[in-house]
Order: sequence, then C-alpha cells, then structure tokens
Amino acid sequence: MSIKIEGLTYIYMPNTPFEKRALDNINLEIKDGEFVALIGHTGSGKSTLIQQLNGLLKPTSGKVYVDGICINEKGVNLKNIRQKVGIVFQYPEHQLFEETIFKDISFGPRNLGLDEAEIERRVKKAMEIVGLDYEKYKDKSPFELSGGQKRRVAIAGVLAMEPKVLVLDEPTAGLDPKGREDILNQIKRMHKEYKMTIIMVSHSMEEVAELANRIIVLDKGKVVIDGPPKEVFKKIEILERVGLSVPQVTQLFIRLKKLGFEVEDGIITVDEA
Ligand code: ADP
Repeated sequence: MSIKIEGLTYIYMPNTPFEKRALDNINLEIKDGEFVALIGHTGSGKSTLIQQLNGLLKPTSGKVYVDGICINEKGVNLKNIRQKVGIVFQYPEHQLFEETIFKDISFGPRNLGLDEAEIERRVKKAMEIVGLDYEKYKDKSPFELSGGQKRRVAIAGVLAMEPKVLVLDEPTAGLDPKGREDILNQIKRMHKEYKMTIIMVSHSMEEVAELANRIIVLDKGKVVIDGPPKEVFKKIEILERVGLSVPQVTQLFIRLKKLGFEVEDGIITVDEA
C-alpha cells in the first residue's frame, strides 16, 4: 500500500499572530514495503507530517493519497483510512486505560464491530508480534507491567487493527537498553515477516542505520535529504568532516538548494571532490 504526498503545506493557527508554517510544500511517495526513517530536530515538522498520513490533520494546501485515494476529499471514510495507516504516538502507554491487557488491545477491533472469535484472533496475533505470551498476560492489568512491556501492549492495540502501514513516533524514547532492543527487534519483524510498511520517527542514527531502507530528513518543514541510509550518511559525514554538525548540515543543504545546487527528488548531490 502506497502513500503519496503532493505539495503538502500545513500552517498552524493561520491568519493569527501565532501563525506557524510547520510543513512547506512536501512531495513524497512511500511505496509498499518500505522502511522509512523520518529524522530532523525538534520542531522540524515530523509529528505534523505523520498526523497528515491518516487525516488527523488536514493540509492547508496540497493532498495526501493512501492507496490511490485522496484522503482529504469530503466523504472519504477516515475510519477506513485509519485502519490502514496505524499511528503509534510517543509514549503510547499513557493511553492504556482498561483493567486487563486483553481488553486494552481488543478496544479498537471491538469498535469495528467484529465478532468475538475475530477479536480474539487479532489480540492473540498482535500479542505474538510484540512478544507477549497470550495466556500469561491476557488477564493481567497493564499497570503491573514494566515500561517496555506497557509500550508493547500499546503497540499491540494499534497492530490489532491490522494496519498495512505502521507509523511509529520515537518508539524507543525513554526505555532502558533491553526495552529498546526488544521493541526494535519487533519492529524489524513487523517489516520483514509481516510485510508492513514502516515509517519511524527517530532521533537515533544508530537505530535508523540498522533498520531503515530510506531516510528522510526534515528541516523547518521541508524535506532536505531523502535517500538510502548509506547515501544519506555519506552526505552527512562528508560535511561533518569539514566541521559541520547535522543541524548545520541541514541548514547548509537548504542554502545550497536556494543557491540552485543540483536537487533531484529531494536528494542534494554533493560533489565529493
Ligand atoms: P517535530 O515533531 O519535528 O518536533 P512538530 O511537527 O511538532 O515538529 O512541529 C513543527 C512546528 O510546528 C514547530 O515550530 C512547532 O512549534 C509548531 N507546532 C506544533 N504543534 C503546534 C500546535 N498545536 N500549534 C501551533 N504550533 C505548533
């Protein structure tokens, strides 16, 4: 399932003194089966962008297509789109509220009006993907679990909707090394074994280098670098070698772009010589 973004601009509080252009003419296509890492410093527009992917925010201008359907048109069934594109927000465990893990994970499927057998099948599968034993945990309270386990329950709640595209906003934030490793391994499996398209916001270059097939760097609401990790890191490394930090590099890219340097599909060609 593909996602296409055309000329997407998003302005918070337009026509007020607080007006903020959070996304500025984004053009992207994310194909079925990709593992995309979205990076960029705080305020670069990552959260705003992911909320556009299932219609939680509506573009100020431009369009978002999911599976060829423009999701910004009137009459589009957003419930249906939100099943296809699941979003795991930061610290999703803060949203846990039911008295048992089964009830929490089954909340979404139950709202779809599925029958009990199908709900159970989905909960079992979602727990299996995140590595929680069904019999052992289903009747426990989510509040008895460790931080990493709680997060896995929250992720299972999104997986139980059986999305084709899974968007994760900093899924390892605040976890200890073991918790991080577990979650990252499970995300890897969702991509490899369950063939989900993954879009992951991350601050960690290590995580991104290990998992993603493609890195998109946002800066001030624009895509400044887009390419396979090797290429992206090479560009960053070359510039760091001349004494620039990653934020400075993205600034430099924007300036180079403005100066008319070669830009192709959001990739800025840097001559190594
Ligand atoms: P990131 O996720 O990369 O940190 P965000 O998408 O949260 O970036 O923010 C992009 C820009 O939009 C920032 O300048 C931020 O201050 C602004 N912004 C985010 N949310 C809101 C909001 N609800 N109202 C006004 N401005 C916002």
